[in-house]
Amino acid sequence: LKPPICPYCKQDSKLVKGDTIYPHQKDLHAKSFYLCAPCNAWVGCHPSSIAPLGILADKDLRRARRTAHLALDPLWRNDTTRRQARARTYNWLSRQLCIPLSECHIGMFDLERCSRTVQLCEAKGRQT
Ligand SMILES: [Zn+2]
Repeated sequence: LKPPICPYCKQDSKLVKGDTIYPHQKDLHAKSFYLCAPCNAWVGCHPSSIAPLGILADKDLRRARRTAHLALDPLWRNDTTRRQARARTYNWLSRQLCIPLSECHIGMFDLERCSRTVQLCEAKGRQT
């Protein structure tokens, strides 16, 4: 498995453990990440694997993705049928963004998709 390319400097990232990135968060120390130290960009891996969750993100993109999650998650999280509600919400979002469901993961989004997601969720929130 080749480490993902850093989208900022186009160099290979490096596989590291969570203690490198979050020295004060012990619960993350065993988790794997891909890091580009010069760009201070990273991405986490799927649980107990070294498969990256998405594309490396720098500080601005990490903040944008957090904001997108904060806008999107309430649309399904409080539903009693969480699993279906989550699937429905991601189906809706992929249609709105005109992207395949397989690409509809906030961890894969760039800045523009993140801000579009926030707009869409706010508009949807106003409707209901
Ligand atoms: Zn880089």
